[in-house]
Amino acid sequence: NSQQMRVQDLPKAATEHFPLCMLTLFQALRRDAHLRHGGRMQLSLFLKAIGLRMEDALAFWKGEFTRKITAEDFDKRYAYNLRHNYGKEGKRTDYTPYSCQKCLAQTVGAVGEYHGCPYRTLGSAQLKESLVENMKLTPMQAKQVAEKAQQGHYQLACGRALELRRFGGEELEENVMHPNQYFEMSRKSEL
Ligand code: SF4
Repeated sequence: NSQQMRVQDLPKAATEHFPLCMLTLFQALRRDAHLRHGGRMQLSLFLKAIGLRMEDALAFWKGEFTRKITAEDFDKRYAYNLRHNYGKEGKRTDYTPYSCQKCLAQTVGAVGEYHGCPYRTLGSAQLKESLVENMKLTPMQAKQVAEKAQQGHYQLACGRALELRRFGGEELEENVMHPNQYFEMSRKSEL
């Protein structure tokens, strides 16, 4: 994956092409100037895989967090883990981004936690609201998508949201298996 994502292009990419799991985290980070550990892991590995380089990732996270804490605090408490995710610290493991399965398996629920898959973690009313607000679906479309989620078909619900949002409702052949695959599929709608 040689494409590069620039920090200044992130907001537009997020609102247009991030799946709901990553958009939810991105917005929570921008709103709260903070994300808890599970969210940092899930979002930072996703961002790495869409081409955000390590130095840019550090600048991005630092820019958000230092709206509330000092730069020294950020460097002490958060920079190591971010570099770690890029395999630059510790065991130098190159962490792979979370698949849908891994997002779906996350334990979420503490106050201020927004990771996991929202199709599973959100209640029906909240999910519909988020689909209208964030995925720009109509209330009718959101209802259709939320029904799939309620039946436990989280990835199908996510795929349907993508079809409605970017492909005029046309059915896609691929199922959503991975947030980074969703991102690539969504970007194809622009070609
Ligand atoms: Fe993210 Fe996958 Fe859930 Fe879609 S189905 S919101 S890509 S975890």
